[in-house]
Amino acid sequence: MGHLNPLFDLFFPPRCIFCCSRLEGEGAFSTCEKCLAKLPVHCCHRCGHPLPEQIDPCPVCRDYKLSFHGACAVDLYRGRMKRVVQKYKYGRQKHLAGPLGKLMARRLKKCGWPQLSAVVPVPLHRQRLLERGYDQSLLLAQVIGDELGLPVRTVLVRSRPTPSQTKLGHNERWQNVRDAFSVLPEHTVSGRLLLVDDLLTTGATAHFAAAALLSAGAQEVYLAVVGR
Ligand SMILES: [Zn+2]
Ligand SMILES: [Zn+2]
Repeated sequence: MGHLNPLFDLFFPPRCIFCCSRLEGEGAFSTCEKCLAKLPVHCCHRCGHPLPEQIDPCPVCRDYKLSFHGACAVDLYRGRMKRVVQKYKYGRQKHLAGPLGKLMARRLKKCGWPQLSAVVPVPLHRQRLLERGYDQSLLLAQVIGDELGLPVRTVLVRSRPTPSQTKLGHNERWQNVRDAFSVLPEHTVSGRLLLVDDLLTTGATAHFAAAALLSAGAQEVYLAVVGR
């Protein structure tokens, strides 16, 4: 990511967020050409799981009922992508929202989905926001909104705090977030919405967040995440 201040770039030349090599030229995604070329080209149109080629039905999600109509991810949540997401979420590297959000928008442009009407971040519980100091999904949603020319609507709320999903098993994750989301009472929703989150693991969070939007009046809900 080039900075506005050329002196800053002189002393701190922009580097690839994945491999840290010095970026030559544009580097629009703060990612070098090599790392950009390694990102998967296909992902399951239903659950967003990156695939080496388009496989139908997708082996990862064929047994699941998902409330969202389509999903996409930039890459699998492992290796270099896991390191970058962890820096972003837990390492206070808020600036990574820019490149990660742009990579999500780049991926979204290839999905061939119908025209979306707004971007809705999956909300962070207040307690978690206080600990982290920023809402990682909201920042990504803002970058995507800018890139795709869509408004960002923060209409979802976590109706109850949910313990972190990371230490829970598969079924517990689904129970943990069941009915955890609702649309703020003073807001109405309509149209095709793009739900944005940093990660999609079991899909439980996105499933219930999308279900809340659909029952409040959204026509369809699509999902974009960084890591799957
Ligand atoms: Zn690189
Ligand atoms: Zn799938």
